Amino acid sequence: MSETKTATIHKVYADSSICGGYGLCVQICPEIFKLDDDGIVYLETNTVPDELLEAAKEGADCCPAQALKVVSE
Ligand code: SF4
Repeated sequence: MSETKTATIHKVYADSSICGGYGLCVQICPEIFKLDDDGIVYLETNTVPDELLEAAKEGADCCPAQALKVVSE
């Protein structure tokens, strides 16, 4: 009856204070990364579903300001 649950949670973080508003992340993974009215990034969700993990990581890697981080816990 021991159910071993090893599900990994993927979290995404955005530092809007250093976001330059280039919008690259939004182009790569619009499901998670959004731009507000001022053109600054915000997150649709803090938790990345498995199917969006690659896109979220790619979007974070492409950020010229290094404002994005995806962490698997
Ligand atoms: S790629 Fe980086 S700098 Fe550009 S909008 Fe996204 S978080 Fe902001």
